[in-house]
Amino acid sequence: MMAELAPDRDEATVGRIRGALIAWYRCGHRDLPWRRGADPYRILVSETMLVQTTVAAVIPFFAKFLERFPDVRALAEAEEHEVLKSWEGLGYYRRARQLHEAAKRIVRDHGGEVPDDPDAILALPGVGRYIAGAVLSFAFNRRAPIVEANTQRVLSRVLAWPDDLAASSSQKRLWEAAENLVPDDEPGTFNQAFMELGATICTPREPRCLLCPVVGECRARALGLQNQLPRKTKKAAPLDVEERCALVIRDGRILMVQRGPDRLWAGFWEFPTIHLAGADPAGRSFGEPVGLELGVQRLTNVRIREQTEAKSITFGVTKHRVKLTAVHALDDGNKPIPYTGYMAARFVDPGELTELTMGSAMRKLAGATILKSR
Ligand code: SF4
Repeated sequence: MMAELAPDRDEATVGRIRGALIAWYRCGHRDLPWRRGADPYRILVSETMLVQTTVAAVIPFFAKFLERFPDVRALAEAEEHEVLKSWEGLGYYRRARQLHEAAKRIVRDHGGEVPDDPDAILALPGVGRYIAGAVLSFAFNRRAPIVEANTQRVLSRVLAWPDDLAASSSQKRLWEAAENLVPDDEPGTFNQAFMELGATICTPREPRCLLCPVVGECRARALGLQNQLPRKTKKAAPLDVEERCALVIRDGRILMVQRGPDRLWAGFWEFPTIHLAGADPAGRSFGEPVGLELGVQRLTNVRIREQTEAKSITFGVTKHRVKLTAVHALDDGNKPIPYTGYMAARFVDPGELTELTMGSAMRKLAGATILKSR
């Protein structure tokens, strides 16, 4: 007896999946702002924002970003700090820098038009196979596969793929399946439908198979494995980091430093912060144990005396869990001078804080509670 072909390798099954998904999508789907129209710039921006971030989190940022940078030229001509400012709160700031760089290249090398050539689009900074596939299929209606968090889950279930998704052999097979499934006609609609299915029906937990348009073609469902797949290796526990920062006020203004280039949060403003213990993803260590008073003096030249703790917050940065404690400190004088590798150290008017680019944690600390409590 011949072995049964995988769903993506059987022409009749592929035809049924394509037809069912597109028909289902046409019957109704979420109204996402980047789905209105087929402007490749809007698609490039939204898909870059959506990497590692949820749809709900991206929606308000997308509107604000498009208002500030309505087209690729506006983005290319902006200063980096303006782009980062518009990205503030979304995290993974490398994406913003790469998008900015991509806009400059589009203007410089492609006359300001997002290219529709796969090699040209893949050559743009920050554009991998997934973003390229999204732009090519959604904006230019070109037959290009996409595999992202939602579609890889659906694919792994439709194929009943047994291996860890992180394995390169798994990724190779899922991309091959996506390539086999995407049709010549309406590849963009198909890809959107595929993503929508993963986001709304074939969800990570408790997929709603009874509502699924491809239930008849799904191997995992047929085998009763839909709740066990996909297989993923458990993430390693986050690495703990302990940091301490000083809230130093002089004449109603607060001491801030601006981080230097080529490091995490390059160009961002923060309260002078030292590394205390654990991993050091932000590269704050002086190479020897240093307390806050000496640390702030090194970072800013300003002498301080520690007072009371103001607030502790815990947040995640890539694979790290950072505990940051902010401490009120008395200013004992000296002119601020930035430490090697920092761009600036100065006392900032509280009203100016909203203008500066800051990470979410520092922004939280800069909240009225701390500053007003002085
Ligand atoms: Fe996902 Fe269930 Fe549909 Fe299979 S039948 S694709 S497991 S929702």
